[in-house]
Amino acid sequence: MTERSVSERERQELLQRRGVLVRGVVQGVGFRPFVYRLAMEESLAGSIGNDTDGVTIEIEGPPARILAFIQRLTKETPPLARIDSIVTRELEATGGAGFKIVASEVLGGVSTGIPADAATCADCLRELLDPADRRFRYPFLNCTNCGPRFTITRRIPYDRPQTSMARFPMCPACQAEYDDPLNRRFHAQPNACSECGPRVWLEGPDGRSIESEDPIRTAIDRMVAGAVMAIKGIGGFHLSVDATSEAAVARLRQRKNRYGKPLAVMVRDLEAARAFCVMTPEEESLLQTNARPIVLARSRAGNGIALSVAPGIPWLGVFLPYAPLQHLLFADPRVKALVMTSANLSEEPIAIDNDEARARLGAIADAFLMHDREILQRCDDSVAAVVDGAPQLLRRARGFVPLGTALSLESPPLLAVGGHLKNVFALARGKFAYQSQHLGDLENLTGLEFFQESLKHLMRTFEIEPESIAHDLHPGYLSTTWAKQWAAERGLRVIAVQHHHAHVAACMAEHGLKGPVIGLSLDGTGYGTDGRIWGGEVLICGFEGFERFAHLDYVPMPGGEAAIREPWRMALGHLHAAGVNVSDSATLRLLGAKEQEARVLLRMIERGVNTPLTSSCGRLFDAVAAIVLQRREVDYEAQAAIELEGLAVDESDDPTASSAYQVELCGGDWENREPIRISVAPLWRGLLDDLRLEKSRAGIAARFHTSIAAAFVQAAQRARAVTGIGQVALSGGCMHNRRLARLLRTGLEAGGFEVFKHRQVSPGDGGLSYGQVAVAAAIMRSERE
Ligand SMILES: [Zn+2]
Ligand SMILES: [Zn+2]
Repeated sequence: MTERSVSERERQELLQRRGVLVRGVVQGVGFRPFVYRLAMEESLAGSIGNDTDGVTIEIEGPPARILAFIQRLTKETPPLARIDSIVTRELEATGGAGFKIVASEVLGGVSTGIPADAATCADCLRELLDPADRRFRYPFLNCTNCGPRFTITRRIPYDRPQTSMARFPMCPACQAEYDDPLNRRFHAQPNACSECGPRVWLEGPDGRSIESEDPIRTAIDRMVAGAVMAIKGIGGFHLSVDATSEAAVARLRQRKNRYGKPLAVMVRDLEAARAFCVMTPEEESLLQTNARPIVLARSRAGNGIALSVAPGIPWLGVFLPYAPLQHLLFADPRVKALVMTSANLSEEPIAIDNDEARARLGAIADAFLMHDREILQRCDDSVAAVVDGAPQLLRRARGFVPLGTALSLESPPLLAVGGHLKNVFALARGKFAYQSQHLGDLENLTGLEFFQESLKHLMRTFEIEPESIAHDLHPGYLSTTWAKQWAAERGLRVIAVQHHHAHVAACMAEHGLKGPVIGLSLDGTGYGTDGRIWGGEVLICGFEGFERFAHLDYVPMPGGEAAIREPWRMALGHLHAAGVNVSDSATLRLLGAKEQEARVLLRMIERGVNTPLTSSCGRLFDAVAAIVLQRREVDYEAQAAIELEGLAVDESDDPTASSAYQVELCGGDWENREPIRISVAPLWRGLLDDLRLEKSRAGIAARFHTSIAAAFVQAAQRARAVTGIGQVALSGGCMHNRRLARLLRTGLEAGGFEVFKHRQVSPGDGGLSYGQVAVAAAIMRSERE
């Protein structure tokens, strides 16, 4: 508690007292010391305290200074804080002097909660590398402007005893910083130094510690020699190898049993990133944000990164060090680029606990760089890209969770469980939805355990007890089964939301649109209201419901799920639907299939055995990739489509330069709610002609992208003609495809549409739960009215 007297002259002026309630991300981010400094500088008296609604400030002094104070609140906000609203009210002046910081109180509802984890700030980085500083080379330094938050916090309020720093009592030097309102470390909950804080050590796969004067240096020695290192980070363990060594990357892939999927690469700084990738200014600023996401950027040819890091695609996922320990690795000139991939087996959740890591990674890592600050929340690295000129989150996790995303209408306490793959759930109340971190695929027990662990944590964090649950319409999803059971146990209401409706609703809610809009939901797969697999949809969408205006024409998906792993099956389904004879030798060669295999699939199609019908846009991309790239099988979902986009880049960076293949809009009767079918049969004929003429495959890939965009622009025009709606919301996993996103936006804008794209919420299945919240909240509201 610090006080400062107000001058006698100012005391004589007319004094005012005001209450100021600030809502947003204002706890654990140095907001109180910031306000304290402002009050000092403006010579104002009063107090500040955290409460569950935000921070409450009382301020007293001359009106002009109070005004200046309030303006500076929003202009000079500390880097990690985010002000959502400021409400002021008049109070009776008390004539009191001094400014006090009042201790935290815990009350009912919470709208502020825990901040997200933030990368080491410039001040801390300077101290880390300064031999004269008392924290020189201390791998856990942080301050109110940086450091771990979400991942080390057990519950609110965000105070040291509620974090995994509770077991490290501060030394007198750290405590003095923590208590001094003018210090950068005032109330920095994870504050520590080498005297009192966590420590780092190296150990072998047998769990025995490896003696070393300098464990970080020894770890580097081993990685330079080709070792696979498990490194404990902020939200979990990474598996790391020298990214410039083909042999080391191959070793990691072989031990992890993961071959095709691109690996993220951490590089020293922006300059290094520029040397490895061709970066746009937007990509550079994304790379440097506090959240430090992995950014997909164009690889520079011959950049020295092992080709096996991101085989078959022209992009590299790069990111910068965000923890002091990582900065120390890169402080060694031998370290240029490190593969840093989430430490897990295939699609399991990332390992966080030391014993868990020893057990799960013992057969993969040659050594472990460990530390003893417990990670309380699993949180993968976030992944972002600049799509069509603007940043877009492909995976929202570390650095973004648990920040809330605004909703355009008030929601009762609600849980939305998301989808199946790349699962993210959302809790909502009032004007905000809080999305969980990326949880991975909800296919097995481990995935479900992570889901439940995280749900429990976030329910406690935000003190939200859901009154209803929204889930995907798909009856077979684990998330659906779980939601129904959980709701039944608690007597809660369940609301099923169609997959592509949720995608469009997410985009609408993000932009505060009321609807109806024309929603283009271009996606992998989602369960439709007719029991078929949808994914190339033009929907006339409101929050409460939708009408299907048009869709890609149904084609057989021989083998169901197997057709996702083996795109040649999808290609065969498409060609068959387009009337191509798939048993002739030329077509078999294109499919990379034997006659017998093709015959089996044809029989399945004819008899309808294990062959669902699909209108999926993602699967169309797969099918085209199977033919154009001769990719028979994939190692991860959407691999073929991503490679096809990569191939098109070789043709031209300007997607608008290519001409379109023909597509046909068939049928459709809006009055009778009969959707238009978008037939790609003529597209296939054109594409096969180009192949026969031995036209460049890159050119074919480019033309294909142009054709799909043109087809959906045409469908949107038809929708506008009958409904008069001019707003288009773009959503679905295919909107990760930069070429397609840009072509659609430019095509629609040229046609006079107003186009809305995702920003904070992923267009893919990671954004589904946010859309489910929007739909469920709207349905419940309309019932109340
Ligand atoms: Zn700092
Ligand atoms: Zn200390």
